[in-house]
Amino acid sequence: MKILICHLYPELMNLYGDRGNIISFVRRAEWMGVTAETDKVTLGEERDFSRYDILFVGGGQDREQRLICVDFQQVKGKALAAAIESGAVTLAVCGGYQLLGKYYKTGAGEVLNGIGVLDAWTVAGTRRLIGNVVIESGICGEMRTIVGFENHSGQTFLGPGAAALGKVRHGFGNNGQDGLEGCVYKNCVGTYLHGSLLPKNPWLTDHLIKKALERKYGEFEVPALDDALEARAHEAAIRRARQRPGV
Ligand code: GLN
Repeated sequence: MKILICHLYPELMNLYGDRGNIISFVRRAEWMGVTAETDKVTLGEERDFSRYDILFVGGGQDREQRLICVDFQQVKGKALAAAIESGAVTLAVCGGYQLLGKYYKTGAGEVLNGIGVLDAWTVAGTRRLIGNVVIESGICGEMRTIVGFENHSGQTFLGPGAAALGKVRHGFGNNGQDGLEGCVYKNCVGTYLHGSLLPKNPWLTDHLIKKALERKYGEFEVPALDDALEARAHEAAIRRARQRPGV
């Protein structure tokens, strides 16, 4: 078995080690006996996104987001939205998450249009939402914790067509107001959690790999892997988030 991963804008969208998510996908797939190949795609490059099993875009600041907004409009947006609509497993972090939604309005009042595949919109607030985060998510069937690190001024709100990835236990999440974090639509997950996210939340990595393999091959049972180190990193992140002054 084989999965083909598309890493979108790797040199532009890579805050707080977001590329570690790609390393996690590849490594854990290999440990499961699955070959994983990664294709890097950047500004101006067209692709048939329906070829990929997993799509990933990391976080970036307004400057990078402005470039990507234009690239989405002129080059990739339609094909990317079509792939997500057809069930491609997708992970988008922070700035990437914002641009899969309807729009991101910056602090200067500029509106950067997203591809609108997520029923979500983002407006920059006056303070940055920064720190370690713990959420509880039922994305894989049972409730589990997801840990990560957030740093954004954008406040994201979800419409009726989108479900949250989880509920915030520590930190701010989507907007610091409604207690929700991230967004799930079909097999697409948007989240503010950097960290990087997947190495510290291996069950989420496995869930996304399983979804991708099931979509391609039918049934796939994830073999048990030794996650002792990952569990320690996860627990350490929870301890750190608990020390956060009351947010
Ligand atoms: N520029 C966006 C914000 O601050 C995204 C930041 C990020 O990707 N960390 O809201």
